[in-house]
Amino acid sequence: MTKVNYSEVWDLDVFFEGGSNSEELRLHLNNLKAKIASLENTTAQFETPTSANDDSKVFDIIEKTKDVALNMSQASAVIGCFLAADTTEKKALLLQGEVGIFSASFSTALLQFQQVLAKVDEDVWNSLMESEKLKEFTFVLNEWRDEVGLKLSGKEESLITSLSVDGYHGWGQLYDLLVGNIKIELEVDGELKTLSVGQANNLSSHSNGEVRKKSFEALEKAWEEKEDFFASALNHLAGFRLAVYEKRGWESVLKEPLLRNRMSEETLDAMWGAIGASKEPFVNYLNIKAKMLGTDKLNWYDIDAPVTSSTKEINYQEGAEFILEHFGKFGPELEAFSRKAFEDGWIEAEDRPNKRPGGFCTGMPMSEQSRIFMTYSGSMSNVATLAHELGHAFHSYAMRPVHWMNRQYAMGVAETASTFAEMIVADAAVKAAETKEEKIALLEDKIQRSVAFFMNIHSRFLFETRFYEERKKGIVPASRLNELMVEAQQEAYGGALDTTHPHFWASKLHFYITRVPFYNFPYTFGYLFSLSIYAKALEEGTDFEQKYMALLRDTASMSVEDLAMKHLGEDITKQDFWAKGVALCVKDVDEFMELTSKEG
Ligand SMILES: [Zn+2]
Repeated sequence: MTKVNYSEVWDLDVFFEGGSNSEELRLHLNNLKAKIASLENTTAQFETPTSANDDSKVFDIIEKTKDVALNMSQASAVIGCFLAADTTEKKALLLQGEVGIFSASFSTALLQFQQVLAKVDEDVWNSLMESEKLKEFTFVLNEWRDEVGLKLSGKEESLITSLSVDGYHGWGQLYDLLVGNIKIELEVDGELKTLSVGQANNLSSHSNGEVRKKSFEALEKAWEEKEDFFASALNHLAGFRLAVYEKRGWESVLKEPLLRNRMSEETLDAMWGAIGASKEPFVNYLNIKAKMLGTDKLNWYDIDAPVTSSTKEINYQEGAEFILEHFGKFGPELEAFSRKAFEDGWIEAEDRPNKRPGGFCTGMPMSEQSRIFMTYSGSMSNVATLAHELGHAFHSYAMRPVHWMNRQYAMGVAETASTFAEMIVADAAVKAAETKEEKIALLEDKIQRSVAFFMNIHSRFLFETRFYEERKKGIVPASRLNELMVEAQQEAYGGALDTTHPHFWASKLHFYITRVPFYNFPYTFGYLFSLSIYAKALEEGTDFEQKYMALLRDTASMSVEDLAMKHLGEDITKQDFWAKGVALCVKDVDEFMELTSKEG
């Protein structure tokens, strides 16, 4: 076999030559602007369909909308790549602002179209949905119509939208501002440092226990000092949301997040029910971890602590080959697709200054390509991240034959393909471990994911639901928010914690994200959902790949319940389904316990 050297720097010139000064990109944006103006014009003149013969008119606007959306995604994805690869890029920032304005006009035009469709007579609507041209979009079109029906009048909703800029989103922005201004003074390795919140948070996995404890305490103190400001922001943000829900006649705060995730409350209850019933093995694991760290019960600041110092170095080329080898065992398409991504410069992995932290995958739909961004520094967890992002890219690849209308998948299923790909590599890494120490470290890495999804995310969900119930009755002061948080943490961690993190509600940005309410349970859903698909894949071997791809293609055109029933034959409204996924994670704990108990 000949050895190939994959580039660690991505190729963006295939889309628009010349980076942020590209003339091609300038021309693309000018064209996009004209396309949006034309779409706005069309939707403004669009009259309520009165018979099945109007199907072509509806179809034409859908096509026009799709054209704008694809052009916009293409530009915005490439510009996002410029910014991630070089945070000092000033020109790209201006371009991003320009696309932001386009995006707002596009949303308004789309909303106008949706509102007209909602006015169509029931009979006419039914015949439209049966027409050859629109049949394919029935799910999404019905969803649009239902959503308009659940809301207030167009006039009232647009008033809410305009008021929410300052009265709702403004609170989220204030939060970002407050956090950005916090500085943490801390002595690390004998040196006094001034850290941002993000930098101090990163010390939670520091190998020195004193550093973890001190940074945690300094952070808690910083949150406490400003707790009244955070409590005020959270209360007003929630108050706005609740007032809107009340006007719309929505009783449950879960209505919006469930709608967005195309999920029923029964499914959500079944998922948490299965997790709640299986806390014990994870509590045992946390107890063992506490012992390994020399304490009786685990402290919050030790949750992310490393338990061994063994980490293997693996260079980029080896990491790529490792991924390809193990992807190949699951399916030829996943392997071939990923090989092409490595060969064709789809991945930006180089370790160099001025890159944004973190990783992402973004799609350039007009070219049917994706780009992956990360910083590869040679750890096994970098390999897992790379596999994760390749999973996202594979999801887009699987969806290529699907119309744009049926490609807008929700947060819950968005992580399906990525978690699946990550699991393949994480499991393979545990199996390939050469020493016991290394195996323990890799297993712990896997268990930590389960702890995050089953315990940490669970505590956020418990806190948020309870906070909203109390908020309905009035302002909830910081002291009460702390109590609610501690209660939720003790419950979600099954009583395994010694010290908790009372100001977690202030520290976690996710509670202040206004665009997506309840930014928590979809994570756990995605993780467990993908684990059950992974379990099926293990049973069925490479034959499973075509079924898997069919499932991915359907992720944005049906409810999650129908998706699971159609492709997995599983009823996800029942606890049994979820219990199977949890059981897979318990196996990791069992193996960890066995390895750590047989000392020497
Ligand atoms: Zn992801």
